[in-house]
Amino acid sequence: MSTEIKNICDIEVSNKDEEMKRIIAQHPCYSKEAQHKFGRIHLPVAPACNIQCNYCDRKFDCVNESRPGVTSEVLTPEEALEKTKQVLEEFPFIKVVAVAGPGDPLANDTTFETFRHIKAAFPEVTLCLSTNGLALPDRMPEIIETGVDTLTVTLNAIDPAIEAQLISHIIYKGKIYKGIEAAEILIKNQLAGIKMAVDAGIIVKINTVMVPGINDKHVVEVAKKVNEMGVYIMNIMPLICQAKFADMEPPTPEERLALQNACEPYVRQMKHCRQCRSDAFGLIGKDLSQMSEERRNTVKLEMTKLSKKT
Ligand code: SF4
Ligand code: SF4
Repeated sequence: MSTEIKNICDIEVSNKDEEMKRIIAQHPCYSKEAQHKFGRIHLPVAPACNIQCNYCDRKFDCVNESRPGVTSEVLTPEEALEKTKQVLEEFPFIKVVAVAGPGDPLANDTTFETFRHIKAAFPEVTLCLSTNGLALPDRMPEIIETGVDTLTVTLNAIDPAIEAQLISHIIYKGKIYKGIEAAEILIKNQLAGIKMAVDAGIIVKINTVMVPGINDKHVVEVAKKVNEMGVYIMNIMPLICQAKFADMEPPTPEERLALQNACEPYVRQMKHCRQCRSDAFGLIGKDLSQMSEERRNTVKLEMTKLSKKT
């Protein structure tokens, strides 16, 4: 049986719904051009995680999305709303409000409490969520109900034998699973969840951690699969060598670029990811949360000038 692989890069964005077009154009991770004009705020409201990746040290933020070795201070949903109000008022070029950790957003009810607060206060912002995907099918009704616009799923393998080398266990419906059984459940839920999200009109990004010697030769198969499923963009991230993988070697920038290029015929590649903190806000690569007051004011001025020009 032959499966036709459609190339999502050939799909004209102009064929998409106008609202999707606007969301993509204003999302700094989904659009290369948007990264210099529009910002995002990450709200660290989700500390718990429901899986254990072999490359993750849970003392720090989720490395499927965030910068290694960083620990963000967890906020309550109310504190997150307050912070969002202050930040959006001061920096109106921020159009995306995201929950990406510090654990897995779908393992925390606070993620949805936060999104409900934000949507009520700022109905026009893009709500963005990142997850390992284990709880996606179960959580999809809440994802749709709260109005999540963009979804990132970490998908490191579609072959359970490969995925089993990347995780030590999952906790699913109150039970711990290990090995191939854990990998099969995780992949099944990730793929089912991605399909549900695409069908619901949510714009989906895949994060794939490139782990030399384990999934590097397999990632093109992942790209082909997500292309068939209507995923918008893929972000191949380098392995952070910590926890069980502390003694492994990360891919070189050249190896990562070669893999991105090999995947590009199947699915658009994000090459400008800066692995932000779970509490980052501002432009990608210009994290206002880490800047002095003086530097923040300079960025504010630059952005005001830019918005007057465009
Ligand atoms: S999903 Fe994220 S927080 Fe959870 S174990 Fe994996 S890398 Fe760590
Ligand atoms: S970690 Fe990468 S994908 Fe996530 S907000 Fe930062 S730049 Fe975007």
